[in-house]
Amino acid sequence: MLKLPDYEFWFVAGSQFLYGEEQLKNVARDAEDIVKKLNESGSLPYKVVCKGVMTTADGITQFMKDVNYHEEVAGVITWMHTFSPAKNWIRGTVLLQKPLLHLATQYRQDIPYDTIDFDYMNLNQSAHGDREYAYLNSRLNLKNKIVYGFWGDEEVQAEIASWQDVAVAYNESFKLKVCRFGDTMRDVAVTEGDKVQAQIQLGWTVDYWPVGDLVEVIDAVSEDDIDREYQELRNKYDLAPQHNDAAKFTESVRYQLREYLGIKKFLDDRGYTAFCTNFQDLKGLKQLPGLAAQLLMAEGYGFGAEGDWKHAALTRLLKILAHNDRTVFMEDYTLDLRKGHEAILGAHMLEVDPTIASDKPRVEVHPLDIGGKDDPARLVFTGADGKAVDVTVADFREGFRLIYYPVDCRKAEAETPHLPVAKQLWTPTVGLRKGSEEWMKAGGGHHTVLSFTITPEQLHDLGTMLGMELVEIL
Ligand code: MN
Repeated sequence: MLKLPDYEFWFVAGSQFLYGEEQLKNVARDAEDIVKKLNESGSLPYKVVCKGVMTTADGITQFMKDVNYHEEVAGVITWMHTFSPAKNWIRGTVLLQKPLLHLATQYRQDIPYDTIDFDYMNLNQSAHGDREYAYLNSRLNLKNKIVYGFWGDEEVQAEIASWQDVAVAYNESFKLKVCRFGDTMRDVAVTEGDKVQAQIQLGWTVDYWPVGDLVEVIDAVSEDDIDREYQELRNKYDLAPQHNDAAKFTESVRYQLREYLGIKKFLDDRGYTAFCTNFQDLKGLKQLPGLAAQLLMAEGYGFGAEGDWKHAALTRLLKILAHNDRTVFMEDYTLDLRKGHEAILGAHMLEVDPTIASDKPRVEVHPLDIGGKDDPARLVFTGADGKAVDVTVADFREGFRLIYYPVDCRKAEAETPHLPVAKQLWTPTVGLRKGSEEWMKAGGGHHTVLSFTITPEQLHDLGTMLGMELVEIL
C-alpha cells in the first residue's frame, strides 16, 4: 500500500505585548486547547502541533525558518487570537516555503453579552486581528488557504482536513520520481512536455531508462515469487480462462506477475514511485504490461501509458492526496452522444486501476491488436456510481495548466462482450457538450486522473500551491 511519511502541521497564534503577560498566557492556553481538541476530533488526517504564541518579527522569522528545515512539517496553520501587527509577519512569511493555512476563527463561538468587557476585548480580537493578518498575505500575493468559522464545527474541521491532504501532496510533489521505460509514443503531441520545467515548478524528477535494463530485472524474477503472487491473485480476483486453454492462460498470467514483480523491484531499488510504458518500445518483453500495471496502480504507484510521464506523476500525486482511495489513471475512450445518454466511456487498452471496481475484477487473457506481442492478461471489471472529478495536466510554453471538471459517474449501460477492458462511464456535471468544449479549448488531452475522493476545491488548492494555471469547468 501507499506509505507516506508521518507528517505534522505546526500551529501558531499571533499576538503582541500590548495587552500584558497575563493576556498572552491566556492566548497560549486557548491555542493549546484548540490544537488539543482538533487532534482529538479524529477528523484530521495529520497531527497538529501547537508551537505557542508569536509576538515579534524575529520570533516569527525564526519560526518560519524552522518550518522550512523540518522535513516532517508539511505546513503551517496560523490564528490571530488578538491583534498581531502584520508587519511582524512580513519577513518570516516571505521566507516560508511550505503551505500556509490561515485559520480565521474565534476561541468562543458566541458573544457573551452579559459579561463582555474590555478585558474580554483585549483578548478576543480575531474579528479584526484576522483581517490585519490577511491583508498582509494578500499583499504578498500568497494565495494561502483561509478557513473561516468556529474551529469546533465539523465543516471547519473537514476543510482543515481536506487542506492537510493537499499540503502533504504538495510536499511529496518535490520528491516524486517518474521512471520512463522508453520514450513517448511516436507522433503524439499531448504526451510530450518540458521535463526541466516539471522539475523546477512541480518538483518531479523524470528519468529515462532503457527497457532492456528492465527486461534483465524481469527475467531474473524467481518462479517461487511468481507462485506466491499467483496464489495471492487467486485469493483476490476471479480467474477467468474462458476461451484460453489452461496452460496458455496460466502462462500469460504468470508472465504478467513476473512483469509486476520486476517493475516493482526496478522502481523500488531506484526510488521511483511512478512509471510509464510505451507499447512501441517493448523489446525483450513478451507482453505489454497490463495486469502488471494494474496491480502496481492498486498499490499506489503512478502510471501513464504511451510514455505519458505527466499523467504518471499526476496519478501518483493525487493518489497521495487521496490516500490511494479510488483515484486512477484514465482515458476518454469512446462517446455516447445520444440525447439523454450523453457520456464518456473511460477505459484503456489494459491499464485501468481496479481500485474503482464495483464488482469483483476478473483476470482475463485476450489478444491485443496493438504492439505485436503475446496475448496479455488484464483485470476486467465495471466502474462505480457517484460524484467524481476528472483532471488533466497540459504543458504550454507559459507553464503547466491544470484542467478539471466535476463528473457524475455511473456504470456502463451494458456489457461489452467483444471489448474485454475495464470500463467507467461519466458525464461532466456541466454537461458533456459544454464540458468537452471547454476542456478542448483549454488544451486538455485524453489522459486524465479520475477520482471519487478528491474535491474540486482540493484541486484548486493544489494547483494554486504549485503555481499552475487553473481551468475549472464548474
Ligand atoms: Mn492512452
